[in-house]
Amino acid sequence: MILLYNTLTKKIEEFKPLKNKKVGLYACGPTVYHHAHIGNLRAYLFEDILKRVLIHQGFKVKHIMNITDVGHLTSNGDTGEDKMEKGSRREKKSAWEIAKFYTQSFLKDTANLNILPPDKLPRATDHIKEQINLIKLLEKKGFTYRTADGIYFDTSKLPDYGKLARLRSQDLKAGARVEFGEKKNITDFALWKFSPSGEKRQMEWKSPWGLGFPGWHIECSAMATKYLGQPFDIHAGGIDHIPVHHTNEIAQSEAAFDKSLANVWMHSEFLLISETKMAKSGDNFITLTTLIEKGFSPLAYRYFLLQGHYRKQLNFTWEALEAAQTGLERLYEAARRLPKKLPENKTLPEAFHKHITNDLDLPGGLALIWKAVNEKTIDQKTLLHFDEILGLDIKKNIKEKKAAALPLEIEKLVKQRDTARENKNWDESDRLRQELEQHGYSVIDTKEGTKIIEK
Ligand code: AMP
Ligand code: ZN
Repeated sequence: MILLYNTLTKKIEEFKPLKNKKVGLYACGPTVYHHAHIGNLRAYLFEDILKRVLIHQGFKVKHIMNITDVGHLTSNGDTGEDKMEKGSRREKKSAWEIAKFYTQSFLKDTANLNILPPDKLPRATDHIKEQINLIKLLEKKGFTYRTADGIYFDTSKLPDYGKLARLRSQDLKAGARVEFGEKKNITDFALWKFSPSGEKRQMEWKSPWGLGFPGWHIECSAMATKYLGQPFDIHAGGIDHIPVHHTNEIAQSEAAFDKSLANVWMHSEFLLISETKMAKSGDNFITLTTLIEKGFSPLAYRYFLLQGHYRKQLNFTWEALEAAQTGLERLYEAARRLPKKLPENKTLPEAFHKHITNDLDLPGGLALIWKAVNEKTIDQKTLLHFDEILGLDIKKNIKEKKAAALPLEIEKLVKQRDTARENKNWDESDRLRQELEQHGYSVIDTKEGTKIIEK
């Protein structure tokens, strides 16, 4: 049994998949106009943990993550510049080159953090046809209207608009003093934007309404339904998506198909730095590369994130990251000294599973592991099993250190012997074999060179 907090019902619920043991998971991906900052990466790590827990509990997960490479404007209110064009101007590269470059950067970061790759990473620009078809359907059903700058979704036509964020219509009316151009309601949003007249956009397409580009939200509705059907099981993303992006995804998908978009909605809280939100445009912009350049391992950052629950804000400090790196190294060190296998003990795995299936309580799971390590009640086999969720490469680190633990003097002799053999200096090679044997090693010659085994 897995308990998950559902933003839609505001309750912790038992997760029940729509189809047997198969789970459809959609997560909103990056807007590829810049590197991801470590705050963004927190959202993807939360989804990775969710996915690993589901897999661990025997589910087959189909994980779709979109790549936003067009249409995300600098303001959430459908005004401002397209972030891709902004990136293009900043770096004097085409918007397409920017998208390609930062998609690669995103993939590198997530791989460094041991985030399991999604099954598909569909790009918004590869799904223009699907988005146009969805807008056509909404138009046919009477949910759209036209303004000078685009085709908009009329949120007043949906009685339960805003249910995810519990937006109340009286609050929205109160907010209506804000400038909102030709929009009929403050919450209405663009489905299709027209290319500005007299200006050539780099990314634009023909549509029944005129030359232009899709609004930001429509890509997720179109691609989620294409790859997962509707409804699907879980939709995930950062908490800032609740009031606008996810609210609008729900509105347009449910208006189009008269059924719910997803059963469970899950959101991760922000990473803060100096108590304020990290943002791509702010001064407090830290990337994973910054951490690596400062000598931290990416997995130390993963470990740091695992110490906080995904529904709580987490404050980033360099001291906390240092503590995480030390903690992780201590865990590797402890893992090396653990017995390979103790007599079977079901209590510990049961307690661990209880934590991770209790709305992904990884901090609780980690605390339990440390307690067991200190009490010497955990073996390597169990820890490696838990690492399928933690994703901290414990196995690799147990092995690597063993290899590196060869005394320097012995390593030197092995190297000297390889050189002697390359130079066909057989006497020297024999002498070095004897020396190694005196140190307690058997020597084997292989194609890759000298191999030694402790006698
Ligand atoms: P973006 O690339 O700007 O669309 O953002 C990608 C993801 O990062 C979204 O799911 C956001 O909710 C999330 N996000 C943005 N800023 C932060 C932050 N400071 N902490 C955690 N998640 C964030
Ligand atoms: Zn989305």
